[in-house]
Amino acid sequence: PPTPSPQPLTPADPLDLVPGIGRKDVHAFRRMGLRTVEDLLYHFPHRYDDYSSQKQIADLVVGSVETIVGEVSETRLAGGPRPRVEVSISDESGTIKAVFFGQPWLTKQLPVGKMIVLSGKVGAYGGLRQMASPTWEPYVPDSDALIHTGRLVPVHPLTKGLLDRNARKVIKQLVDAVAPHMPEYLPEATRAQAGLVGLGHAISQIHFPDSAETLTRARERLGFDEFLFIQIGVVQRKLLWQGELGYQLRLHEDVHADLQAQLPFALTGAQQRALAELFSDMARPVPMARLLQGDVGSGKTVVAAASLLQAIANGFQGALMAPTEILAEQHYKGLKKLLGRVRVPRQAQQEAEGETWRDRMSPEEAAQLAEIKALLGMTAEDDMDGEGVRVALLTGSLGAKERRRVLEGIAKGEVDLVVGTHALITESVRYHSLGLVVVDEQHRFGVEQRQRLRDKGFNPHLLVMTATPIPRTLTMTIYGDLDTSVLDELPPGRQVIRTRWVPRSDHAKVYRHMRKEIEKGRQAFVICPLVEESEKIDLPSAEEMYEKLQSEVFPDLRVALLHGKMLPREKDQIMVAFRDHAYDILVATAVIEVGIDIPNASTILIEGAERFGLSQLHQFRGRVGRGQHQSYCVLIPHKANDSSAERLEALAQTSDGFKLAEIDLQLRGPGEFFGTRQSGTPDLKVAQLADTRLLVAARAAAEAILGDDPQLAKPEHALLKQKVDAFWVEARKAG
Ligand code: ADP
Ligand code: MG
Repeated sequence: PPTPSPQPLTPADPLDLVPGIGRKDVHAFRRMGLRTVEDLLYHFPHRYDDYSSQKQIADLVVGSVETIVGEVSETRLAGGPRPRVEVSISDESGTIKAVFFGQPWLTKQLPVGKMIVLSGKVGAYGGLRQMASPTWEPYVPDSDALIHTGRLVPVHPLTKGLLDRNARKVIKQLVDAVAPHMPEYLPEATRAQAGLVGLGHAISQIHFPDSAETLTRARERLGFDEFLFIQIGVVQRKLLWQGELGYQLRLHEDVHADLQAQLPFALTGAQQRALAELFSDMARPVPMARLLQGDVGSGKTVVAAASLLQAIANGFQGALMAPTEILAEQHYKGLKKLLGRVRVPRQAQQEAEGETWRDRMSPEEAAQLAEIKALLGMTAEDDMDGEGVRVALLTGSLGAKERRRVLEGIAKGEVDLVVGTHALITESVRYHSLGLVVVDEQHRFGVEQRQRLRDKGFNPHLLVMTATPIPRTLTMTIYGDLDTSVLDELPPGRQVIRTRWVPRSDHAKVYRHMRKEIEKGRQAFVICPLVEESEKIDLPSAEEMYEKLQSEVFPDLRVALLHGKMLPREKDQIMVAFRDHAYDILVATAVIEVGIDIPNASTILIEGAERFGLSQLHQFRGRVGRGQHQSYCVLIPHKANDSSAERLEALAQTSDGFKLAEIDLQLRGPGEFFGTRQSGTPDLKVAQLADTRLLVAARAAAEAILGDDPQLAKPEHALLKQKVDAFWVEARKAG
């Protein structure tokens, strides 16, 4: 056989170079995506067998898992249908029998006189204590050299054809040879500050821990690193956004007061707190990057309106982006009605130009303006003759000519606020002076979108709004580049939506309830997990449900169908028709999650409810209860088990979206958040998302490191930079 390479192994070496590893095992590791020494060192155990409690044979307790050291005093092969090897092991206190099945060769490996270590569960057979199929290995005086017994024994995730004994042996060999020489990439100060153990130590202890305590410390170090890589990424994004000068906006108290006078209600405490944070951000010469989180119905729109108004009062334009055209239209109508009546100073233009923009207009321009106004449906009254906020809608459904006019109005600064979809930044919209962008219900507003705004020549303030309540640890990860404001208070007088989960056998009762509500003039939603019937998954589909309701259950009522496979235009048409009460019942898939206001809808029935996350169910529920009618949410699980019952019960008990999100995170893990909704967020091997303390420490470390070296360009950060870059490459692949 070839002599093993005399070169010491390095982390980058391929597994073939590891002395003693079999070809078959190399292939098996490769099937798991593990190619190099480093890959294997980062292939962490998924659990540990605690074989650390070592006892005298006389003291062994039946039923517990124990480890003994002793000498083989007898070995024999017993016949029968299942050949077994029976071995007696003795120490100075007594003797115990161990039985192994189907491994006749053990008679040779366990000759009389051999010292071995044995770990396993102590049982009793015919009144005598014995261990059935224990793990064993030859005794060595140095307890550190034990791999399979007598310690916390790691159990690594493996694939078919790979024996855990073999894998453990290879990993132990690598841990001993390579881990101590792994280059430390964390700055010494960071390590000291956070009280973390060294990298090599952490790697060896996570595989072969000396104790539960050292294992905890190892996990803490490696989990910190994962959080740190994420936080360095998001903090860098934030620094990039805020690295250039922003527009310093003065707070116009009078304009704000004027807005409040127009509102039919007083702002809640939470709205006022959020606005104070927004105004203070916008007053700084740094572009704001803020997330406004607030449960469905908490009143985010008016917060957005008040901020946009301030930008406009300072002589800038605002843009509001909605996820769909229909939502854009809804916002447009609401904002035009509200802001059109608020008088804003136009001194910015006047001072700059010495005369009003109106004075400068040529007759053609005046005619154009009149045309735009007509298009926008502005009467001289609600426009207050140009003194109120001028709001325009820009969507794909505008005709070419209207579209050109609106674009022109935006470019000339004759539109103060434009409402639309992503088209507002992706298409060739030229702004006159864009000062604030508000993004509603949008999870993904990233680096690329911001760059687009910059490419348009502006560095506006940014406000992102979301109704998806997200636990703090996730916010710091997913929205780590944004500061957060929370609307943690609903406007007064909100009715509670009566929520109940019922078995499938109660369908008839639920339908009776729906019919009663519809007879009172109300409307209802029915949500299904699938679009169409599937042979593989036995779950209610929207198409089937639609068929059944329209032809069997409610043949006399008007039922509509809405799902994600329809064209956006079709979806909008159905929604508008439902809003205008052309239908009584809307059967839909999860596409309904963010949608327009239908205050007349009073019941939402969710089929296969156990298939949805709590946060998502809470979003669905928010589709009703938007008017003055008592509203109902009925959940029908398709297959209920204990955990789904617990979740549905939680939804019935609380209407607090944040609490539900926390419960969801605990019960279902972060997959719900990372899976379908938020892609581009990396997989965490060690870090626990619920570990706020560690995450906060990592955030602080990221800020400290980048505060000193924003690009990680200093030589002492070179290794760290490599690690961070590699981590994000993986994350993007996963996303
Ligand atoms: P969301 O946060 O879900 O976007 P909206 O902004 O659509 O909520 O507000 C929901 C409803 O609550 C709207 O009808 C809005 O006019 C109303 N609203 C907002 N703020 C208040 C308040 N402070 N008092 C009473 N009603 C309010
Ligand atoms: Mg909203």
